Amino acid sequence: KRIGYAIVGLGELTIGQIMPAFGACKYAKPVALISGHPDKAQKVAAQYGINPKNIYDYQNFDQIKNNPKIEAVYIVLPNGMHEEFVTRAAQAGKHVLCEKPMANSSKEAERMIAACKKAGKKLMIAYRIQYEPHNRMAMKWTREKHFGKVKVISSTNVQNIGDPSQWRLKKALSGGGSLPDIGLYNINTNRFLLGEEPHTVVASTYSTPNDPRFKEVEEAVMFQMFFPSGAIANNVCSYGVHNSKNYRCFADNGGWFGLDPAFDYEGLKMEASQAQGKIEMKQNPIISDKKQFALEMDHFAQCIMENNEPYTPGEEGLQDHKIMEAIYESARTGKPVKLEMITTLDTFR
Ligand code: NAD
Repeated sequence: KRIGYAIVGLGELTIGQIMPAFGACKYAKPVALISGHPDKAQKVAAQYGINPKNIYDYQNFDQIKNNPKIEAVYIVLPNGMHEEFVTRAAQAGKHVLCEKPMANSSKEAERMIAACKKAGKKLMIAYRIQYEPHNRMAMKWTREKHFGKVKVISSTNVQNIGDPSQWRLKKALSGGGSLPDIGLYNINTNRFLLGEEPHTVVASTYSTPNDPRFKEVEEAVMFQMFFPSGAIANNVCSYGVHNSKNYRCFADNGGWFGLDPAFDYEGLKMEASQAQGKIEMKQNPIISDKKQFALEMDHFAQCIMENNEPYTPGEEGLQDHKIMEAIYESARTGKPVKLEMITTLDTFR
């Protein structure tokens, strides 16, 4: 048995990654499409064997409630549209997988969790890194103190954003600049690796003056996160430099490990180094690449079949929104911001 998914939004991520990943799924299959462009939807439906009767648009979307083939809805729209479509999907009686970032704010995220609870439907946020084998190995090494206790993490997620007219640079649709789009990976992976929540953040932002891309949203953010175990994480995200996505975890027992690249769709590489006496032993553990979107969609499908809570529920997205709001506040005020309201989620696995 496979869970039938409806995919909402046929943009770059859906066409380039999500639709092809269904081919590697064991428990998920595409059964419906929701798009504002009927021609594109017809083409994609034909390519993936989806019945054209199961094509909807943003207006008649609510009619999915009458289609029992659709059990889960995957929201792959600009961030500012997530709340509306997650809520409408839950009200139509469907489980919802929502792309990251969950929303534009913690208030929206709270309303989305409440809407799915009220409808009795599951909500998962698509944090693909938490399902990816290299990153899961790094999480295991961190939690099991394989190289000793990780006390410092250094993480970079930078890329050059192109077209100044794209929705990612419009605050109402994106919620912010490089922070919610790519800095979110630094935040979420820091928390995932350590299995704990930061108590304090310190941050600053920068945008190149007169760069037309950064009129509404920030270009770069440098931010530190401080954790109860004593671990500290130093992070940078930027929309203004050449692509690089990596992290390194430094342990107290003469070792470090990390991934470079860490957040790409494929080709992730692990590196590790450990001092043995005076000799530094470098390793490059080889782990086989898996299609991250297939792992993530299968996980949610299995949660639906077995009635389990996903590893990355709505609450996981909400935590990151609270942390991002604290990061912006610290950048604005020039002061550290405490996060007393955050309690560690018991969903970290
Ligand atoms: P995209 O711009 O390529 O696609 C967006 C889709 O939404 C398009 O089909 C567009 O037609 C539709 N749309 C409907 N109303 C729109 C409006 N008012 N403005 C703009 N587009 C509108 O974007 P994308 O890269 O596919 O991103 C979609 C979502 O997926 C975002 O939330 C993004 O953060 C997330 N994403 C996640 C990953 C990941 O690795 N998990 C990677 C890329 C994007």
